[in-house]
Amino acid sequence: LVRLRARLAQSQNAFGRGLLTLLSSDKLDEDVWEEIEEVLITADVGVTSASQIVEGLRTKVKVLGTRTPGDVRSLLREELVAHINPDLDRAVRTEPHGDRPAVIMVVGVNGVGKTTTTGKLARVIIGDGHTAVLGAADTFRAAAAEQLQTWGERVGAPVIRKEEGADPASVAFDAVTRGIADGVDTVIIDTAGRLHTKTGLMDELGKVKRVVEKRSQVDEVLLVLDATTGQNGLRQARVFAEVVNITGIVLTKLDGTAKGGIVIQVQRELGVPVKLVGLGEGPDDLAPFDPETFVDAILE
Ligand code: GDP
Repeated sequence: LVRLRARLAQSQNAFGRGLLTLLSSDKLDEDVWEEIEEVLITADVGVTSASQIVEGLRTKVKVLGTRTPGDVRSLLREELVAHINPDLDRAVRTEPHGDRPAVIMVVGVNGVGKTTTTGKLARVIIGDGHTAVLGAADTFRAAAAEQLQTWGERVGAPVIRKEEGADPASVAFDAVTRGIADGVDTVIIDTAGRLHTKTGLMDELGKVKRVVEKRSQVDEVLLVLDATTGQNGLRQARVFAEVVNITGIVLTKLDGTAKGGIVIQVQRELGVPVKLVGLGEGPDDLAPFDPETFVDAILE
């Protein structure tokens, strides 16, 4: 968490500094409130949430008669944390059920960081003393299976793959079968992210899920979103949420953007918690998402 905070603080600096500068203005007048709202919108918090956060803050400042920048800062902190909702269950379910492994499907469009997240997540599971098998169900690009293979070798997890163009569902089935045979704790399935048509995507992810359910159950469907893609990323998220039941969001590339406000917007839109964040390309650059640590990093 200390590292998470340091990493986030680096990339969210512009966002936080803007807010803190405004809070230390001599007079908290209409212009300042408007500017705060603008900084929040620029950071991808979303128009509705930005306006609610500023309204909430204004009301509190007024009721409490607070003026010092320090006090206003802690009220803003409260307001931001409340909007991220600290009460949501953000645990990733990786525990096996008896002799059946937990199964996690990783979904999202190409390039958002699915394969990288699959590898990093396996690293966390193995680091905790558990076992994992990876399924390379993105069979449309040979490079995807290659890349997952490299991750498997790096973190010490077997990778189930087939030739390019093979049925993604059959790869998923084999991965779960292998997981059962080896008594593995968690099977992670890296899927293809071709957003060609909504029905195509729905058929494909639906089939992977149904086939997995012949052997075990799907415990998590993690939607991976690139934090740097803003509205475009949100549009993609909506399509995925329509075709499959998302249980959690992984927000990647938070290390390269000051637009961390997307956390608030995406949770609000999808009604699903951000569970993990990607903070770099390395094997240890995946962290559980913690609202308070996140907000503290912004307001550092
Ligand atoms: P996929 O097509 O969705 O499987 O995406 P990949 O896993 O291949 O990732 C695409 C690119 O994004 C790769 O160059 C990754 O190294 C990079 N990437 C993934 N996650 C992160 C992250 O959290 N931070 C940064 N900076 N880069 C990332």
